[in-house]
Amino acid sequence: MKFTALSLFTLVLITLLLAACIQQAQTGISPEIEPGSQIQDLQPEKQGEITPDSNLSEKAIVNSSNPANYSNLAEDSSRDDYSRVNRLHWAHMPVTYRILNEEECGRYESTRIRRAFSAITNVTNSVVYFAQANDSADIELTCVFIEDCYKKSVEIYSDYVVRYETICNHELGLARTTTEGNIIRKAEIYLYGLAGFAETKREGPSGFYVGTCGHADTEIHELLHAFGYKHSEDNSSMMYYKSDTFGLSIRKEGECQGSKREIDRSIVEDLVKTYTVR
Ligand SMILES: [Zn+2]
Repeated sequence: MKFTALSLFTLVLITLLLAACIQQAQTGISPEIEPGSQIQDLQPEKQGEITPDSNLSEKAIVNSSNPANYSNLAEDSSRDDYSRVNRLHWAHMPVTYRILNEEECGRYESTRIRRAFSAITNVTNSVVYFAQANDSADIELTCVFIEDCYKKSVEIYSDYVVRYETICNHELGLARTTTEGNIIRKAEIYLYGLAGFAETKREGPSGFYVGTCGHADTEIHELLHAFGYKHSEDNSSMMYYKSDTFGLSIRKEGECQGSKREIDRSIVEDLVKTYTVR
């Protein structure tokens, strides 16, 4: 009897020890996080969450006579420096902007975004100008990466090699504006690059370069949407309706020559007319 109790105790002890060992072994083989898995975190979290400030509409009705105060632009929704303008417009200059995930965008795309802002400022002789904001901004930009869009394959035959490069039909950019009457309160811009390039692996070409010839046309196009300009049927226009999406084939080097678009004269004139303070 005494012997059996001791054996039972030993058995229980061994079982407990074994269980502890197994548990430790299991925690030791926790799955490794794949480098690419963090790409999903880049999906815009704020999508579909534009809830206009409920106080905004009431405040907007009051015609404020406050002098310009740039540091308080976001809060002061009652001011409209261009109240004489009937078309859709921003209520103040500078229009502030912020790249929400600049680090993920990478240096290449962040530079291209800034080039787009500069292009609009230059072409309007600084009538339209921008300021970078550190928190709440009028225009908020997010870089998004599309996965499994770019495919590269090589077929090797006895005397020749065939290389295929294809990309999926994808959106290049998206702009969403929140308006109130004829005032633009906020704009959200999403720029789409292809995952697996410099931004995610820190090597090779930028996922924002593929198929774009390196121009900032998409960025300018989306910014002009943020100023209320709509699509054009004219394929030479910066607002050509097909410029938001990209087709199935990658542009050859030759196709890039002369492919840079200029901002439409009519848009430039309209911007200058709208934002010139009389
Ligand atoms: Zn568009």
